[in-house]
Amino acid sequence: MNLEMLLEEKFGYRSFRTGQREIIEDVMRGRHVLAMLPTGGGKSLCYQLPGYLLPGSVLIISPLVSLMEDQVSQLRQRGEKRVIALNSFLDSDLKRAAFSNLSYFRFIYASPEILQSPPLMQALKNVKISLFVVDEAHCISQWGHDFRPDFLKLGDIRKLVGSPPCLALTATAPPEVMDDIVRTLQLDEVQRHIYSIDRPNIAIKVEKMDSVEEKVRQLIHYAKTLQSPGLIYFSSRQWAEIIARRLQEEGIEGVAYYHGGMDAEQRMLIQQQFLRDQLQIVCCTNAFGMGVNKANIRFVIHFHFPGQLEAYLQEIGRAGRDGKHSIAILLYTNGDEDMVQSLMEMELPTDAQIKQLCESLLTNAQDASEWKQQLSAQLGLTEVQWRILDYFFETEGVFSSLSSLTRDDVQLLSAKLCKRIEERKRWKRKKLHQMLSWLFHSTCRREWIVRAFHQQLEQTPYACCDRCGFSLDDYLYKQKIEKAWTFHSWEEELKRIFFMK
Ligand code: ADP
Ligand code: MG
Repeated sequence: MNLEMLLEEKFGYRSFRTGQREIIEDVMRGRHVLAMLPTGGGKSLCYQLPGYLLPGSVLIISPLVSLMEDQVSQLRQRGEKRVIALNSFLDSDLKRAAFSNLSYFRFIYASPEILQSPPLMQALKNVKISLFVVDEAHCISQWGHDFRPDFLKLGDIRKLVGSPPCLALTATAPPEVMDDIVRTLQLDEVQRHIYSIDRPNIAIKVEKMDSVEEKVRQLIHYAKTLQSPGLIYFSSRQWAEIIARRLQEEGIEGVAYYHGGMDAEQRMLIQQQFLRDQLQIVCCTNAFGMGVNKANIRFVIHFHFPGQLEAYLQEIGRAGRDGKHSIAILLYTNGDEDMVQSLMEMELPTDAQIKQLCESLLTNAQDASEWKQQLSAQLGLTEVQWRILDYFFETEGVFSSLSSLTRDDVQLLSAKLCKRIEERKRWKRKKLHQMLSWLFHSTCRREWIVRAFHQQLEQTPYACCDRCGFSLDDYLYKQKIEKAWTFHSWEEELKRIFFMK
């Protein structure tokens, strides 16, 4: 069967999108492939289609549970039964059953964390893995914008499952991150399929406001007039909540907020409502987005901007996955960068915290997990801070030599860790500096971004950016679309679903 026929039969698509065919052909040849396609470019298909042609299973490592669940449910909707997601949410009975029967599954999704589990690794030894996929592979890089230590172990894991060919997928990896991906996964002879990171259907606008009040006013104006659905990004949970309430008070319908401080059920609910167009606007932190595969997002506004260009691109890339015109607006006021900077610093442990932590290795270090629990609570460390420290201690072999550590060892460790953290701070500052250079530069915004990724802009789109000029009118409500959904009765709802109303 040729690839097009399979594409139509299994996925209902008539043709491949840019890059998909070339990537799939190399995957089928058994090559290692590193592929960069823009957000929404259709990366999942590059392993899902081969899944129907390869003899064994496809193991997909995916960084987020929501991302995984989303992919699994899409495959199931397409009638695929032989798919499973292995993550911490799977209950233990199901897990046991799945582990003993893993080779039944065509697609096995797993989080990097669960791959640390010895029973799973044991079970995987009995499965023929034909393809090892790493989704959102930029997370692998020490210098990726999401620090995920367990990703760094994937190279060894690939070997443990029989060194199958590897497909690493990402939307935003500058050259140094790509090199890091290849090195960490221990791949030799990699076919690189690098496509433009540009999303020509997203117009980019940066707007300078004189004060925070003005910024809020402008945001309200946009929320009222822009074609929705849309996302508004904030750097803190409080801001997301405050502005969501403010927009509701302004009479804007279908507004909610979303951040990492809400419980899993609440978050799931908001995400589902947004996916089904029952919500028009979500005010969120960067906790929202990855894995939200919603095709018709028309605008992404940054009330606060992230500290890195890569993160910014990921966030605006959630707009216009259906290929239709969409807009990304960044609202800036003087001093916003100070907040980004201090948030960045807060993400990393201070020298004092590091010293205290290392000291405590001498006193209460009997059992690593107990020590971890006590310490993270005592020092008030955040999750990210803890992840960084934990990774450091692990790679330095501290946990395996706890009982024999001397004062000198600990001092050395502490100095090394302080240095490491300082390096990371410097790197983050550099990233922020790049983001700011982009903000303040006077040339085409799109071209600047593309160049930062060592690419060239092939064509300036019709609606490019505020530097090149475009009409905001194209993004305003032409007609008031269907009002936000509210549940009245099942009869009403059924009528609505079957277009009788
Ligand atoms: P990403 O590159 O961001 O991972 P996804 O794989 O989630 O993108 O795909 C984005 C959307 O594009 C999905 O809804 C997917 O079904 C759709 N898609 C992928 N390939 C094609 C194709 N060849 N034709 C039409 N739609 C496609
Ligand atoms: Mg994807």
